[in-house]
Amino acid sequence: MTTSLVDDLQREFGGLRGRTVLVRSDLNVPLDGPAADRVITDEGRIRASVPTIQALADAGARVLVLAHLGRPQGAPDPACSLAPVAARLGELLGAEVAFATDTVGENAHRTAAALGEGEVAVLENVRFNAGETSKDDAVRGAFADQLAALADAFVSDGFGVVHRKEASVYDVAQRLPRAMGNLVAAEIDVLARLTRDPERPYVVVLGGSKVSDKLGVIDNLLGKADMLLIGGGMAFTFLKAQGHEVGRSLLEEDQLETCRAHLRRAEESGVRIVLPTDIVVDTAFPSEAREPQPVVVSASEIPADALGLDIGPESAAAFAVALAGARTVFWNGPMGVFEVDAFADGTRAVALALTEVDGLSVVGGGDSAAAVRRLGFEESTFGHISTGGGASLEYLEGKPLPGLEVLR
Ligand code: ADP
Ligand code: MG
Repeated sequence: MTTSLVDDLQREFGGLRGRTVLVRSDLNVPLDGPAADRVITDEGRIRASVPTIQALADAGARVLVLAHLGRPQGAPDPACSLAPVAARLGELLGAEVAFATDTVGENAHRTAAALGEGEVAVLENVRFNAGETSKDDAVRGAFADQLAALADAFVSDGFGVVHRKEASVYDVAQRLPRAMGNLVAAEIDVLARLTRDPERPYVVVLGGSKVSDKLGVIDNLLGKADMLLIGGGMAFTFLKAQGHEVGRSLLEEDQLETCRAHLRRAEESGVRIVLPTDIVVDTAFPSEAREPQPVVVSASEIPADALGLDIGPESAAAFAVALAGARTVFWNGPMGVFEVDAFADGTRAVALALTEVDGLSVVGGGDSAAAVRRLGFEESTFGHISTGGGASLEYLEGKPLPGLEVLR
């Protein structure tokens, strides 16, 4: 780990006791159920946020936690309230956690003023405010001014958002004494090992549904990794680029040329891109209304009415063999719709193979991390489970991350 967060702030401040510290955490957890009765289905990000919050509270700071949840459109949306998350954070901290029903309004100020030394409050979803994600620097800045007015210092601990130029990540850090939180420091330590001098063979597994986001990293990975295993929704654009029909599977037509270029470049540079050879398909996307009817087909014979929802058993076995020989692995994106048991086997096989890697295995991505826990794997059997998907990919791409740059 780099320097201690609390030491940094003590130095900056001559003490933390009684100071109000804003902490940007990533508490964007998956929730289920109606707006009035939301249930947290994976609390990994809350757990990962506890050490920094705890350290600040132990040092006597008044801690105000800033976070977002889901994608409210810049206005309050009860389904995206952080209230259930604040309650769970309190249980994990073993302490009372206050909750402010707004982010920078009257309630937030009252909540902050009522905090004693070593006490913690969560402010309502930062994305209930249009200024948080505005592309207009002045609009974001005005909201950041309001955030900064609440506190004496800022700690950036939301690794999952450091790639975003948002008010609570970037602009607020320009307005207060600031420090990097323990979680962000730990995440960067591990990712730096993947970019500097990874032990070989270095295998990267990509999947999930955010296809166009992830195609960008492949370009950079082709210069670093020895092998790329591609599953999940991303596989179908590649299969189509190779001339296969993919039925009604996830497909990004406008990325076909990009995929062809990747395949060409891989061939030239001696990097292997491995695509699934069999696929688990169904005729409809899984829903509560209908029992899944999974069928395994060859990747070159996907029926026109079928949706590919997982990699097949032959592909899963081939991926596992490739991973068994690896000394460094980075995995982002589930191999299939793991939320439904019938389409979880490919993801399970890859997760299992990662636990057996003799070397460094890193899982990145909100859903990938949730998948690992949902399928019952011990977190400690992986080298590292990152809380950030987009952020870890952009870091590996070598892009400057605004939320890190601003802390320099
Ligand atoms: P991460 O959060 O790990 O970066 P993504 O957000 O890109 O991953 O993708 C996760 C989602 O991808 C999961 O909800 C999963 O159901 C979905 N997914 C995986 N494979 C497919 C597929 N073949 N078709 C549609 N969705 C898929
Ligand atoms: Mg995701």
